[in-house]
Amino acid sequence: MSSEIKRRGLMLVLSSPSGAGKTTLSRLLLESDPGIALSVSATTRAMRANEVEGRDYFFVTPDEFESWVRQDAFLEHAVVFENRYGTPKGPVEDALVSGRDVLFDIDWQGTQQLKERAREDLVSIFILPPSHGELERRLKERAQDSDDIVAKRMAKAASEISHWPEYDYVIVNRDIARALAQVQAILEAERARRQRLIGVGEFVAELTR
Ligand code: 5GP
Repeated sequence: MSSEIKRRGLMLVLSSPSGAGKTTLSRLLLESDPGIALSVSATTRAMRANEVEGRDYFFVTPDEFESWVRQDAFLEHAVVFENRYGTPKGPVEDALVSGRDVLFDIDWQGTQQLKERAREDLVSIFILPPSHGELERRLKERAQDSDDIVAKRMAKAASEISHWPEYDYVIVNRDIARALAQVQAILEAERARRQRLIGVGEFVAELTR
């Protein structure tokens, strides 16, 4: 009987300023690969019209959020644009031990916390928009906001982008199909990383007996 190689799941973080195409990229990755599931965060912000409880977020009150914090139920949590966001611990740990990968759409603050808590499991990718002009165009397109609001968003995007050096990989999203292929290639390579594999020694012993 040949022995089996198993693998601990990995944590794949995608971060970007809004307007870089991260949401579309996450959706395409999840659709293309049944081996990876999205970590659903909890947030205190109001639900948007197109969002679904438990699919996009767990929408909670500030008191509920604080009680999760006190119970140490978050892997990481942070304040983003005046609202609180956090990653529930339980589902992530369950996925990793059973060899499933987890995708996180979290900001740089959360990524730093995951780095401190779980460096070995973490693979982080920063998605950049192709140019200043394109970023501005996408932020304007998003909502018919005043120039003032668009300028504020640009400033926020610039501050988010300043964290790119803290990530393992950087992808410039010029073309969504190309960016998706790059994320998939990173995921495939990281899945084969020796440190994540369990039982290779036994497998090799069997090969060479
Ligand atoms: P939105 O409110 O537009 O869905 O998300 C705003 C920002 O919060 C995005 O940059 C998103 O990546 C980030 N975010 C969402 N969930 C979490 C989380 O659980 N932890 C952290 N640190 N950031 C999050």
